[in-house]
Amino acid sequence: MAAVKYIFITGGVTSSLGKGIIAASLGKLLQARGYRVTIQKLDPYINVDAGTMNPYEHGECYVTEDGAETDLDLGHYERFLDITTSQANNVTTGKIYHTVITKERKGAYLGKTVQVVPHITDEIKHTIFALGEAGQYDFVIIEIGGSVGDIESLPFIEAIRQIRWHLAPADFLSIHLTLIPYLRAVQELKTKPTQHAVKQLQAAGIQPNVLICRTEKPLPPSIREKLSLFCNITPDAVIEAMDISTIYEVPLLMRQEKLDEQVLTQLHLPLTPAPDLASWKVFLNKLMHPQKTLRIGLIGKYTAIPDAYKSIQEALTHAGAYHDCQIDLQLISFEVLQEDNIVQSLAPLQAILIAPGFGTRGIEEKIRAIQYARETQLPLFGICLGMQCAVIEFARNVLGWQEAASTEQSPQTPYPVITLTDTQQDVVQKGGSMRLGEQSCQLTPGSKAAEIYGTTRISERHRHRYEFNNKYLKDFGNAGMVVTGTHPETGLVEIVELAEHPWFIGTQFHPEFKSTPLRPHPLFVSFLQAVKTLVH
Ligand code: GLN
Repeated sequence: MAAVKYIFITGGVTSSLGKGIIAASLGKLLQARGYRVTIQKLDPYINVDAGTMNPYEHGECYVTEDGAETDLDLGHYERFLDITTSQANNVTTGKIYHTVITKERKGAYLGKTVQVVPHITDEIKHTIFALGEAGQYDFVIIEIGGSVGDIESLPFIEAIRQIRWHLAPADFLSIHLTLIPYLRAVQELKTKPTQHAVKQLQAAGIQPNVLICRTEKPLPPSIREKLSLFCNITPDAVIEAMDISTIYEVPLLMRQEKLDEQVLTQLHLPLTPAPDLASWKVFLNKLMHPQKTLRIGLIGKYTAIPDAYKSIQEALTHAGAYHDCQIDLQLISFEVLQEDNIVQSLAPLQAILIAPGFGTRGIEEKIRAIQYARETQLPLFGICLGMQCAVIEFARNVLGWQEAASTEQSPQTPYPVITLTDTQQDVVQKGGSMRLGEQSCQLTPGSKAAEIYGTTRISERHRHRYEFNNKYLKDFGNAGMVVTGTHPETGLVEIVELAEHPWFIGTQFHPEFKSTPLRPHPLFVSFLQAVKTLVH
């Protein structure tokens, strides 16, 4: 294929329509036809990246291989397409302005007034084209965060309008995702909000080529015709997107609605070969027909918003499907785990996962839950802060160091079993300054970790500041908590295991970021295998 094709996806009427899933599903369908696809997310907020926002603001912060702290939609892109994304796949208003202002200070625009148009829009266009020009892709799909009409997204919309004139008509496509609400009182689907959203897009100079309509009822022909007429779109390009039970079904739904054919036709590309979705269907079939249910408790601080632990939930789903099991995931706030009700709260669970996190709140409660799992031989998986809490629990209750702690929570502890390394001691800047991204890890031959991975050299993604304090390595090892994974260059601890326990593993890294439906992560697969074996 000669030129790179750029597909822009905007949203209208309301947020949370699932643009990320639609972008990932379209990407999947194009990839399944043999095209090389990547997806870029443009986020209109002024933060330089998602790393400084708490999950209540923005859901999970997803970490790429190259250490970018990004929007959780990048997780969907990686999981659906089985690709790795990078810094270049997530562009924010903050990043764009930062670049432009830095250039201005260096004198790049000497003599000029620096303005939103053309300087900010030029920088946006530059970051979009940079991804396509690398020569690695046939398609770059660009998802624009927020909804049309938001003040923040205006420069992005304007940049897309300009891009339209840089590209041949067959290399540019604009898709608009919208909501067709159903009014129960009159038993009708309503198109007016969509008409307004599309008018707003048109006023900004963009004519959508495809309209994807989220709806809880099928769209009758009359509604399609109305949308076609008022939105200036052919009826075939009105695509119905009914609500369905799992996000992983959306690529098949979009295939059924001929989204991929509509896109290919408008971009003057052949409709053959048909997409090969065989392996995806195998996964989906296992996902939709579970033989057993496993009840896993995820203990964390942000349990009120399901998106806070998105990648962990998806990783459990992938591993569950692998085992023909569905996961009954109990999101348990640390707040409910008080001393007098710990057994009552945790007894119904078949396994516990301690979530990553930051700060002081919830640490003691997580430690209590870990003690319960260790003593009752319940499978326990600790991720990042979860591993750190497992180390503290062991120090206090097995080694007898009652005041053991992480210096993140107790800077004065006499037993700093988790602490800052020298490289983190003097860091004052909060953004982008943690240990981030993919790093290698050496596993101990013969350990449970090496057996699970089937190799002794792995690499996993990181997002943390504090580390296991290696001065206590021997004490832990002698008492039964063994370190079975370390960073080869620095000796930093990556994995701890309990020798005398059916399944008790803590990882300083985040395995959840690398799990995909077609490649479920070995640690999650092994964790659920243990649960399955113990329960049945
Ligand atoms: N707060 C811990 C640290 O910074 C753990 C971080 C995490 O769980 N992602 O080391």
